[in-house]
Amino acid sequence: MSKFDWIKEEIEGLQNAGLYTNIRTLGSAQGAWLMVDGKKVLNFCSNNYLGLANHPKIAAAAKAAIDEYGVGPGAVRTIAGTMGLHTKLEDRLAEFKKVEAVVTFQSGFNANTATIPALVGKGDVIFSDRLNHASIIDGCRLSGAKIIPYEHNSAASLDEALKEHLSSYRRALVVTDGVFSMDGDVAPLDKLYEVTQKYDVLLMVDDAHGEGVLGHGGRGIVDHFGLHGKVDVEIGTMSKAFGVVGGIVAGKQVIIDWLKQRGRPFLFSSAMTVPDAAACLAAVDLLEESTELVDKLWSNAKYFQSEMKALGFDTGKTETPITPVILGEATLAQQFSKALYEAGVFGTAIAFPTVPQGTARIRVMISAAHEKEDLDKGLEIFAEVGKKLGVI
Ligand SMILES: *Cc1c(COP(=O)(O)O)cnc(C)c1O
Repeated sequence: MSKFDWIKEEIEGLQNAGLYTNIRTLGSAQGAWLMVDGKKVLNFCSNNYLGLANHPKIAAAAKAAIDEYGVGPGAVRTIAGTMGLHTKLEDRLAEFKKVEAVVTFQSGFNANTATIPALVGKGDVIFSDRLNHASIIDGCRLSGAKIIPYEHNSAASLDEALKEHLSSYRRALVVTDGVFSMDGDVAPLDKLYEVTQKYDVLLMVDDAHGEGVLGHGGRGIVDHFGLHGKVDVEIGTMSKAFGVVGGIVAGKQVIIDWLKQRGRPFLFSSAMTVPDAAACLAAVDLLEESTELVDKLWSNAKYFQSEMKALGFDTGKTETPITPVILGEATLAQQFSKALYEAGVFGTAIAFPTVPQGTARIRVMISAAHEKEDLDKGLEIFAEVGKKLGVI
């Protein structure tokens, strides 16, 4: 008997159920094609929506910033870690997203765990979409507020929950993903906004997969619905479409001011690094210059999704470039992913607990980095593997 036996048993259990995550290693820059575990494969699963992760202008901006400012921020933001690059990035993002103010964090995950506990606590209540992202759930738990889930994307369910529970609590926050990362469906933010107006409660949206994707030139879900100035807090990430890393909180000046006083990852974890901040600034410049990449992302996604449907795959209810290929059992999804890899496509299997039991899938992430030949190659391989494994 050793004190680690239980962990070994847990891991074996995961392996037997097809739920153990085997991590593949990349040996090249992000792009339409990748070296994965030594083999060149078509990249169908990174969040590099616009192909910015290795964009020459962005890489050059990061290098130039290193030459001028070095690498590390040296401290947390509130002590000695706020550099001109951070404040410039925040100002540029606020302009880009047409909000009063922005504060950045080291990641989108941190942005959620900073923001939710700063806005609600013991004695308060959070109304949370049933399928919200893990970082929202963790932020909710950290806050100590009562968490009441409402039915996925249902403004009616939210309305009922508010009617029944609101009066028992001091303050309330409604929180939803903007784009749901595993299915690609979009929250009905306009309808949710109406409900939060009716009850006069805070509305927060986590737009990690909408940042750089939805709205005019990638300005996000609030822009997509024309809700400028109406959504109280918008979370974003610069790790997906922006191709870098870093979290965004955008919204009213008063909330941003408060997060700089009470957002724990802002106060107790060092600032974004110099090259990251400079790279994010360059990404904002690129997005403001032209909508070309965002347009290409959407036309690629539409093409790929309609061809996949025509082949007979179940791509769920996506409304965005996220393309779930729903297979069912976790073991089948793992087998499918392995066969894709052998045939030259990198598409990771996703299973419980990331998605509900019985809905394991390959989630294809379409990017502006793909050319039509790439998509056609991917479709050909999907068709071949789908037939071989009896899926289509
Ligand atoms: C990816 C994601 C995050 C985390 O963003 P990072 O910047 O990678 O930490 C948060 N929320 C949602 C909805 C996400 O999809």
